[in-house]
Amino acid sequence: MLDRDINICEVEKNLLKQNKSTGEDDTISELYIVYWDILRDDFFSLLQGIFNDTGTILRNSQHKGVLTLLHKEGENCIKMEDIKLSPIEAVFKNHLKDNLGAHEKCLQTLKKQLHARLKKLEQEAQSAREELKTQGLFQTDLDQEKGKIDNNFTNHKAELEKEFESCSQLIAQAYDKHLTEHIPKLSVLPVKITINVLPKDLKISDVVFAPTDRTKPRVIGAVEGAMSANKDKLVKWPEDVQFILFGPFAKCNQHETEKIVQEVLQNGVTYPDVTVLDSQSMPVLHQSMSPGSEIVIFGEVKFESDLPKKCFAGLYKKEEDQIVDYFICQSCNFKWICRSCMEVCHKGHVIQPYIMNFHPSWACCYCPKNKKCIIRE
Ligand SMILES: [Zn+2]
Ligand SMILES: [Zn+2]
Ligand SMILES: [Zn+2]
Repeated sequence: MLDRDINICEVEKNLLKQNKSTGEDDTISELYIVYWDILRDDFFSLLQGIFNDTGTILRNSQHKGVLTLLHKEGENCIKMEDIKLSPIEAVFKNHLKDNLGAHEKCLQTLKKQLHARLKKLEQEAQSAREELKTQGLFQTDLDQEKGKIDNNFTNHKAELEKEFESCSQLIAQAYDKHLTEHIPKLSVLPVKITINVLPKDLKISDVVFAPTDRTKPRVIGAVEGAMSANKDKLVKWPEDVQFILFGPFAKCNQHETEKIVQEVLQNGVTYPDVTVLDSQSMPVLHQSMSPGSEIVIFGEVKFESDLPKKCFAGLYKKEEDQIVDYFICQSCNFKWICRSCMEVCHKGHVIQPYIMNFHPSWACCYCPKNKKCIIRE
């Protein structure tokens, strides 16, 4: 059926030609099909091993295995890309493939060494037998000496095979230890969630919670980070702010969320997958917080944008490097108007940006100077 010097392409081609598949749909062959990409190389080195070592043809069951491996009812060849893996399966598949490959290579090297040793042993036994013949011994002595050589060979061979087995075991143990130490359980991996600042109707997504992160400091950190990126500083975080955890399937729109939060906090109503968090708890470890959850913040959290607007003329500090955006009001026909004045005193006027990110060296805003200001105390 196959040439002794088999190569992967030939085997694949030859096997695919043998259209004898029964279309059986047993679990084992399905498993092979799913992991074919992983098993392929090992499978062929196995085949190669079988042919090189003994020159025998595959046993019937193996033959059938090969065919079901490569055929599925009505199809010629199973392509890995046709099988849809979940994202987690794909991660495992890739790692498994790499790791299995590396360890298989290690095992193959050992196997090669074993075979070389066995071959040498057999040659030694053979030459010892040849030498016996030249010594002119009586038949009984000859048989006895031959027996000794055979025994010696058998024992040596068994020892080498035992050594190989124990090496394989050691590799497996080392790998098991490695995996145990390096693959954390899914429940203790960092978790990505959304923070919902309910009073501000603001959502901060992709906040990573490490297993040991505590609710309050982590949430405040995330809110501060997101707000300062929006140039709106967090200015007040009262002690009585509450944190309510919504599981991925309990999330709902802002209006419903607000209703549930009120019910939970004020009337003690319970909802599935909605938990009031202690500000010092570690939600990943204590509440098994799932990825995709939402932590809702309820309380009088204040940002700079919530405070009454103040004209820059009253905020200037000589020792600080302050950055101010200035605007022109075409309706009032003057420039150097600070952002707060632009938003309040010149609301509804025709405005244009003038100079952005300016570093003023005095309390500069022309709005009070031109007696248009309604926010300057
Ligand atoms: Zn101003
Ligand atoms: Zn104006
Ligand atoms: Zn003003």
